Amino acid sequence: MSHQITAAVLNSAPGKLVLETLTLDDPGPDEVLIDVHYAGLCRSDLHEIEGVWPATCPTVLGHEASGVVRQVGENVSSLKSGDHVVTCLSLYCGECRFCISGRMSICANTSSLRKRSRPVLTNTAGQSVHPTAGLGAFAEAMVVHQHSVVRIPDRMPLAAASVLGCAVVTGVSAVFRSARVEPGASVAVLGCGGVGIAAIQGARLAGATQIIAVDTNASRLVDAVKFGATHTVQAGSVDTVEAVRDLTGGGVDYSFEAIGFSSTVEQAFAMLGPAGTATVLGLVPDSQPVTIRASELFAMEKRLQGALMGGNQFPTDIPRFVQYYEQGRLLLDEMLSAFVGLSQINEGFQMMISGGLTRVITDVRSLEL
Ligand SMILES: [Zn+2]
Ligand SMILES: [Zn+2]
Repeated sequence: MSHQITAAVLNSAPGKLVLETLTLDDPGPDEVLIDVHYAGLCRSDLHEIEGVWPATCPTVLGHEASGVVRQVGENVSSLKSGDHVVTCLSLYCGECRFCISGRMSICANTSSLRKRSRPVLTNTAGQSVHPTAGLGAFAEAMVVHQHSVVRIPDRMPLAAASVLGCAVVTGVSAVFRSARVEPGASVAVLGCGGVGIAAIQGARLAGATQIIAVDTNASRLVDAVKFGATHTVQAGSVDTVEAVRDLTGGGVDYSFEAIGFSSTVEQAFAMLGPAGTATVLGLVPDSQPVTIRASELFAMEKRLQGALMGGNQFPTDIPRFVQYYEQGRLLLDEMLSAFVGLSQINEGFQMMISGGLTRVITDVRSLEL
């Protein structure tokens, strides 16, 4: 039995999202059907809408979601109908050399796990609709692989939970798992959107003594202090690299690039002190090559690395983040800047573009708010 759902579809890029009725297939043996409650608007969705990053159209975007399981496939034993869940695009097999060494965010078998005999989504013209990252959260419901889902306690508010699956897991896991920031370290975060704010909170939880927030937007910098930044630098008004070097007495121990421009990657590397590590979390288009002084890799033992989705282990990371939230140590409600209904999702992306917000969330079960 298939299901009729309303979803926000991107039919061509650059373009706008259009509400359509789609047919959603039943879950396969390893899949679960989830009724989506909330989905965060992420900059990578915007990259596909704007055509900066190639989109497989027609497509349903959205990969940061919370919801409730309605139905599970026959091989699914860890989830059942009624469970509250968060989705993450870091689908894992649990068997490849990356998964078994704890690097599940770069699982080698992701694409084969996403293969299905029938399309998961079909439009009224009978055309297959691509669910982004095997998810497609800007929809009333989605059918996803069980290894892209983690259960959360029923008492956890689903709106706050929605940001766990991308922004929070990327920013916080990058600090803990990829960079391994140690107590007493100095940290700079370039870009104070959802991922950057999560990295700032991760640095605070890791015990960094100096946390420098960098953004062009003054109101975002005011917010960054509420989340744990100890210093702020307004990019555009000062030389960011010099400002961070001055604040740290010669260079920062860890920097995180959470925007996705080659220029900010170059700054993140340049502002490091000796033995510093720059971690790139932003999606830099291939059209933007990065130029660094390679002699600093050798002579100063600086490191430039990337972390896909923060190098997370989301099935264990996200339940820990829930505990931090419940202890008041990870601020999630404060990250939810604005809510829009599903029919207002293009306005939500406009709000993101106009700046100053941490995360815009779609309340998928309402058309308008
Ligand atoms: Zn995202
Ligand atoms: Zn794997």
